[in-house]
Amino acid sequence: MAEDPTKKNDILELAPETRLPEEEAAEQEQSGFWKKLKRGLFMTHTELIDKVSDAMSGKVTLDERTFEYLEEVLISSDLGVETSLELVERVRRNALKEQVGSATRLRKILADEIADLLYELPRPRLAGRGPLLTLVVGVNGVGKTTSIAKLARRAQEEGQKVMLAAGDTFRAAAIEQLALWGERLGVEVVRQGQGADPGAVVYDAIHAAKARRMDHLIIDTAGRLHTKVNLMEELRKIKRVIQKQYPDAPHEVLLVIDATTGQNGLQQAKQFSASVGVTGLVLTKLDGTAKGGIILAINHEMNVPVRFVGVGEKLDDLQPFDKGAFVDALFAP
Ligand code: GDP
Repeated sequence: MAEDPTKKNDILELAPETRLPEEEAAEQEQSGFWKKLKRGLFMTHTELIDKVSDAMSGKVTLDERTFEYLEEVLISSDLGVETSLELVERVRRNALKEQVGSATRLRKILADEIADLLYELPRPRLAGRGPLLTLVVGVNGVGKTTSIAKLARRAQEEGQKVMLAAGDTFRAAAIEQLALWGERLGVEVVRQGQGADPGAVVYDAIHAAKARRMDHLIIDTAGRLHTKVNLMEELRKIKRVIQKQYPDAPHEVLLVIDATTGQNGLQQAKQFSASVGVTGLVLTKLDGTAKGGIILAINHEMNVPVRFVGVGEKLDDLQPFDKGAFVDALFAP
């Protein structure tokens, strides 16, 4: 009698053609995203691969001029001066140990050193005694609202009960947009009218999320006030309101950055970190830039891990950051 493969306990024993449907779906999702990530990083990838290859053209070994050129290439891919210098220094150390005689070898060394440089930290787990609280910050237009919707969807898919809070009371459109996403996703959105005190919205949301035993509360915040000082002060106030009610929260402060803004992203990361203490990054719009190197600059210079990357406008175009996949997509031929 033929054995039903789905009854087998040990998935590893199954031949590829008899994979469980959920495993197949997960793999397809992974490879689908990898393709998108690769497509998303295409411009950065081409820029790096071509120029790194140029660096080695006609050379049998690395010399001072090659190092200088490499430094320029890395800086122009928006890796940031500090990170670029560190990487060139690491390549130089490799070159002392071995004769780097081909573009392929140089790319491999760079890929390994970049992977080594990328700072990672595990994502916070569900809080257990109350909802996981994620505060999402970032300037307007970076893709904050869309990213919140994508995060909510991911959390739902992981089986979490999610609630959103419309903490950007500065713009009526922001409240409406979040409410619309809430309807589409079947997620409750705690909100008040335009001009309301965001602290009050957050207060209500924490109360509601605890009362309704939510697993995850995701809070949107303003991205533009009359002045930068106002914005940072408002964010600090929101954080104080949260901590008064829920001392170990926020468990995660995600800063959303638009990859196409290049080095400006690093400035934003510094400002938001100084006011609310960013714990993770969401890097959006990697699909529209040759400046994907900004991930490395922020990650390395500020020791803030990248949590998610966005490579398109669809709901499933946001994925957890995986440094292996990222470096592969950057350097794989
Ligand atoms: P917010 O002002 O920061 O809340 O920005 P929105 O969420 O309204 O997004 C601004 C625009 O960026 C929208 O048109 C989004 O569809 C688009 N967007 C967001 N994330 C991505 C991404 O990863 N790739 C691309 N190409 N577009 C994105």
